[in-house]
Amino acid sequence: MSEQQGFTLWLTGLSGAGKTTIAKLVEAELKRRGVKVERLDGDIVRQSLTRDLGFSKEDRDKNIERVTFVAKLLSRNGIGVIASFISPYQKTRDMVRRETTNFIEVFVHASLEACAERDVKGLSAKAFAGEIENFTGVSDPYEEPVNPELVLYTERETPEESAERVIAYLEERGFIPTTEKVARSS
Ligand code: ADP
Repeated sequence: MSEQQGFTLWLTGLSGAGKTTIAKLVEAELKRRGVKVERLDGDIVRQSLTRDLGFSKEDRDKNIERVTFVAKLLSRNGIGVIASFISPYQKTRDMVRRETTNFIEVFVHASLEACAERDVKGLSAKAFAGEIENFTGVSDPYEEPVNPELVLYTERETPEESAERVIAYLEERGFIPTTEKVARSS
């Protein structure tokens, strides 16, 4: 195969929408195909690179700015970046698009009610009770993507189906080898 093209697969959506779950499935499949990938996840990055930041608009923007710097370096050097961040502001996501290589905006869609019901991190109930300031979708805005490359509807797709749709998209764009090609070259 010719040299791998880098890309920035950017998963945006509410907390609990399914970004991390889908990102992990996509990562595993890409690794299986021999694609060089790096997964950047909001919760992990906030414990390291951006642990000094909170959830005000200013801090959220700083969080994404730093991550963008990393994604920019990786994606321009042939790495497939899989980034999962709530990233609620369209303007900020547009900045990531401008800065990184082969940016793909993926809207991981689930209603606020579905996210609250899943309540993965046990935060939704507190947020609805007014105990958490700046909780996206409840006490802080989430701007839905205006023109995303992909929308994954996690209330009616399984995580595996959503991940497969991402993989199919990456194949279509020629960013990753198809399974057929892998089979033929072996
Ligand atoms: P986020 O990273 O967006 O905050 P997570 O991936 O941490 O969300 O959590 C999503 C939760 O929803 C997980 O518990 C996952 O098992 C569940 N879930 C149910 N259906 C789906 C789906 N179709 N896609 C992704 N996650 C789903």
